[in-house]
Amino acid sequence: MKICIKNLNKEALKKALSDLSDKSYVIDNIFRAIYQRGIKNFSDITDVSKDLRLFLNNNYEISKLNLVKKEISKKDTCVKFLFSLQDGETIESVLIPHKNRLTACISTQVGCKMNCDFCVTARQGFTRNLSTSEIVNQVLYLNDYAREVMNKKVDSSIRGLTNIVYMGMGEPLDNLENVIKSVDIISDDNSLGFGKRKITVSTSGLVDKIKIFKESCNARLAISLNAPNDEKRNQIMPINKKNPIKEIIKTIKDLKFNMHNFVTIEYVLFKGFNDAVDDAKCLALLLKGLPIKLNIIPFNEYKYSKYHSPNMDTVSKFYDLLAKEGIVCNVRHSKGTDISAACGQLKSKDL
Ligand code: SF4
Repeated sequence: MKICIKNLNKEALKKALSDLSDKSYVIDNIFRAIYQRGIKNFSDITDVSKDLRLFLNNNYEISKLNLVKKEISKKDTCVKFLFSLQDGETIESVLIPHKNRLTACISTQVGCKMNCDFCVTARQGFTRNLSTSEIVNQVLYLNDYAREVMNKKVDSSIRGLTNIVYMGMGEPLDNLENVIKSVDIISDDNSLGFGKRKITVSTSGLVDKIKIFKESCNARLAISLNAPNDEKRNQIMPINKKNPIKEIIKTIKDLKFNMHNFVTIEYVLFKGFNDAVDDAKCLALLLKGLPIKLNIIPFNEYKYSKYHSPNMDTVSKFYDLLAKEGIVCNVRHSKGTDISAACGQLKSKDL
């Protein structure tokens, strides 16, 4: 069976083609043809030898995602895509416009193992990791949609994606190898040339994997904290029993992040659970002096959710307290709430 060439970063492609060519410009030409010109057949790569085209044709394929459904938010023009994969599994990705930014939120797994109590994806269980090509293809599809559709229908200044966040379905660091390869590909100058600082990979806090990620990838890291102490975090994020808060904080310190290469801490605010003044004080103590920026995200309720959104007054008080303690923070409101595209609301099966 042929494998998709988009599973190979440049290093892997060079190795695979080493018997036919050792010239790096040949690999560059193949990358440009696939990722910049979007060719559908290897015979269209006219700037490599005929033998190489034949070899590619006999051994590789160029996969794409099939769109099953697209929903556009009436509130904020956020767009949610449901894609089907070659084995019939499905995933969701979201395009999020905000001021002059256009962010793609992409998935890394079909479902998720982490079982966070507030998350819709967790309810569908875990099926499998996405391949590198399935991750890259989400970025390519959303980038093309931005350039071709949003540019004409929404705003002619849109030239493509500005940011990519690995925050869709799945725990990205549980699929680390494919995530790193996908970052390699989309950040390559002969592909989309995406700055690694414009790419953020999120984790629920897999400490060992964070170390490998930091050593092998320059993309930004976000950690979903969501509670100021282990007692509360254990209740909503079972992964905390293996990777408690003190280990996460130690990892941030040990890995020598800095304010140029800071960690984003995500803190979803749940009404009556982690939004009290004492929670804010405890969180400030925990984060003070660390090279982090804090995103406070009011929870978005969904059908059957046992958690609720805090009111705006509570959110403001929480933010003010943290800011007064010198924590660099923002309040982030999820987009696409009317089409279930907000943080933690993605799913690809009826539940
Ligand atoms: S919040 Fe993220 S890590 Fe937790 S279950 Fe959902 S998708 Fe997985």
